[in-house]
Amino acid sequence: LSEKLQNALGKLKGKGKLSEKDVDVAMREVRLALLEADVNFKVVKDFIKKVKERAIGYEVMESLTPGQQVIKIVNEELTNLMGEKEAKLNFASTPPTVILMCGLQGAGKTTTTGKLAFNLKKQNKRPLLVACDVYRPAAIKQLEVVGEKVNVPVFSMGDKINPVDIAKAALEHGKRNGNDVIIVDTAGRLHIDEELMDEIRNIHDAVNPNEVLLVLDAMTGQDAVNVAETFNEKLGITGVILTKLDGDARGGAALSIRAVTEKPIKFAGMGEKFDQLEPFHPDRMASRILGMGDVLSLIEKAQASIDAKKAMELEQKIRNQEFSFDDFLDQLEQMKSLGPIDQLIGMIPGMNSKALKGLDVNEKDINRIKAIIQSMTKKERDNPDIIDSSRRKRIAQGSGTSVQEVNKILKQFKETKKMMKRFTDMEKTMKKKGKFG
Ligand code: GDP
Ligand code: MG
Repeated sequence: LSEKLQNALGKLKGKGKLSEKDVDVAMREVRLALLEADVNFKVVKDFIKKVKERAIGYEVMESLTPGQQVIKIVNEELTNLMGEKEAKLNFASTPPTVILMCGLQGAGKTTTTGKLAFNLKKQNKRPLLVACDVYRPAAIKQLEVVGEKVNVPVFSMGDKINPVDIAKAALEHGKRNGNDVIIVDTAGRLHIDEELMDEIRNIHDAVNPNEVLLVLDAMTGQDAVNVAETFNEKLGITGVILTKLDGDARGGAALSIRAVTEKPIKFAGMGEKFDQLEPFHPDRMASRILGMGDVLSLIEKAQASIDAKKAMELEQKIRNQEFSFDDFLDQLEQMKSLGPIDQLIGMIPGMNSKALKGLDVNEKDINRIKAIIQSMTKKERDNPDIIDSSRRKRIAQGSGTSVQEVNKILKQFKETKKMMKRFTDMEKTMKKKGKFG
């Protein structure tokens, strides 16, 4: 899909003005590309209509070419189609929260159950996994292995007991043991099958779940959309988890599922490991489908948060060597409003987000640095040289960090200033020699 769409959209680039005919031609090709990617026919039709309506007669933003303007609209509408915001899990107001996992065989229910448990544990929850797949050979054992790996208990009663009774017993067990989230892993089916459908409906009625999560294999394209429609009709799902997105670059399924079921895609499976479950970001998926990284949201975010005037003031301060810890703090704030750094880099087209997994720059670090700077007095921020060892101790205490950390930040700040000075000195020398400005 991605390549096709880019071809279609590429044709608009470099043209002076966007005419109705330009939009029409591009949209015809976008339509073909989407259909080829297995996007539901009706979804495509609605989509094209919406984009056309918006694009024709649209005022082209000053900073964009007409072609970019259409890309922006296509991107926005794709995002809208998949839901505007990432959807979170619904927790019960009185625990335990019950999550019912459902879907076809091999979609990734058991694996995803483990991933969710892994995630929830990180949020200090105490999940319990329930083995209700009594049909597939070794299904119970599989869940037990999963539970062991993520260090979460698994409730099972073997394969001779009715899954509805297992689920009920598990709920009682979980309540007694203080488990606040109970995830019920159920039997899949090869196709939609009335008997199994009845069974999962009975489990549903017995445990009254807060979340009914349908696990869908993104590789199955249009089939996944049909499955979603049926499960939603017969069972009433609350959300979708799309697995194996690491293997499918097209994302056609994601596009249709939300439109057809009107239920959010809550997570995306990005691999077989337990830490490879990510919140689903409609905007990122839209951009991925368009094959341009998150370049649009990057531009938008940057425009929104970097105040040009501030930047100029900063430059002036650097030149006059007045850069203080307060300015440092400002810079950190700006970095934060752009989102985590690794996420930011992941938005740059051509950068592989997988290669960034090991990157060690996080918001936590920034928050600690912030705490340290905020624990300084105004005088100290303007002139860190006056900070002696007893004041360092006090700053460490005030910020809940260590003297070593305070020392490190002070050193880093000094280095930064030194570098700035070297830079401005160099500039001055060059100006004198007439090579600059
Ligand atoms: P179930 O029958 O629905 O319980 O499916 P399983 O959890 O047993 O998963 C079926 C297969 O899909 C297993 O080999 C999993 O490792 C694999 N799988 C599950 N989720 C993902 C994913 O997000 N990415 C990849 N690449 N494989 C996955
Ligand atoms: Mg399973």
